[in-house]
Parts: sequence; C-alpha cells; structure tokens
Amino acid sequence: MLFEETSLFTDPDWDLSGFDNLDDLEKKVKECTRCSLRAGCRGVVFGEGSPQAQLVLCGEGPGGDEDLLGRPFVGRAGQLLDKILEVCGFERFRHVYILNVVKCRPPGNRTPTEEEVAACRPNLNAQLRLLRPKILVLLGAAALQAVLDPKGKITRDRGKWVQRAGVYVLPTYHPAALLRNPHLKKESWADFQQVVARYRELIDPRHYSPHC
Ligand code: URA
Repeated sequence: MLFEETSLFTDPDWDLSGFDNLDDLEKKVKECTRCSLRAGCRGVVFGEGSPQAQLVLCGEGPGGDEDLLGRPFVGRAGQLLDKILEVCGFERFRHVYILNVVKCRPPGNRTPTEEEVAACRPNLNAQLRLLRPKILVLLGAAALQAVLDPKGKITRDRGKWVQRAGVYVLPTYHPAALLRNPHLKKESWADFQQVVARYRELIDPRHYSPHC
C-alpha cells in the first residue's frame, strides 16, 4: 500500500504523479474535494516539517485545533507528541515531517471511513513518494490500517518493525491514546527509543537525544 498512487478511487483528474516538490503538491492538495470531509471542515491540513526529513510521522486526521490553525498535531495530542519528539532529540522542522492519513477533519473527530481514507490515499502516497522517508512511524490504528494492514491491531502490532518498499515502518500508539490511558506511555517510550536507535543506524549515527 505504501507509495502506490492507484486506488479503487483513482480519478483521472487527480493524478499527482507529475508533482516533484511538496510546495506544488500542497497547493494542489489544498484544492481537493474528493470526499465529503472537505465540505465539513475549515481547510485542508497538508502536513509540516522538514521536506528533507527522512523520518516521517503519520497520524489519523486533523482535529479541531489542527483544522483551525491548518497545521498537524497542534492540539493536546500534538503537544504531547512534541514532548516525545523533544526527549528523542527530534525537532519538528529539522528532523521530521508530520502528516495524516486524511487531510480534512472528520466531523466530531470521528475516525475516517474506509471511503474517506481511500479518497485521500493519492494525497498521502504522493507525499510519501516525494519525502521518501527511511523511517515511517504510524501513530495509532487508523494509520496502521491505512498504510500497512487493513486488519492491523495497534495493541498487537505496535513496537514491531515492518519493512515496506525499502522503508522501515513502526506502528505505535497515537498520542491521544496516551492522554486517555497514561499506562500506555511505558510501551510508547520503548517504541520511540527504537525509533532513535533506528535513526542512528540509518540516518545519523551521531544523533543526540537527551534521554536515550
Ligand atoms: N490527531 C491526529 O491524528 N492528527 C492530528 O493532526 C492531530 C490529532
């Protein structure tokens, strides 16, 4: 599923294969009305970070704060994600790129439907094709199911690396799940320590992290 730009919903008017940079792709994706989510939200939240990042984090979809500000992971879950990144030694605009499975806020922050995920897949795939991450961290079940395995279970699959299309992919808990259930933080921290170790192995052996 990773990097494919075809889906059941392939639309000849939505061919993103010709885009060769994220800025142009963002302008195009901001015009997307391929599913009904766009009509119910303020705007498309494309993603943000370093376009050179070799570590990409993928969440589920924008919430209310993200929809308001047009930026991913800026609400409570995003603040926790920033803290996690900080203890790993990662800066949002230097080491990582953060994006979501769907780019428009689902009403009431519900989980996006299969159809919505499928409609947004060309957008996600085009981002991943341009970013070409070496490491992809999937935050939560929706990202796991959209990118790796439609039958994936986050409690079972978290913390286990999968290699897809030359990318090391690691599912872990969504930060919102850690806010709901702080007992999950221990496992989440173990997963992010693995991310730091893999980052040193594949990207920067001298990467500094204050806590691991
Ligand atoms: N949850 C997500 O999955 N993505 C965001 O951008 C914010 C909260």
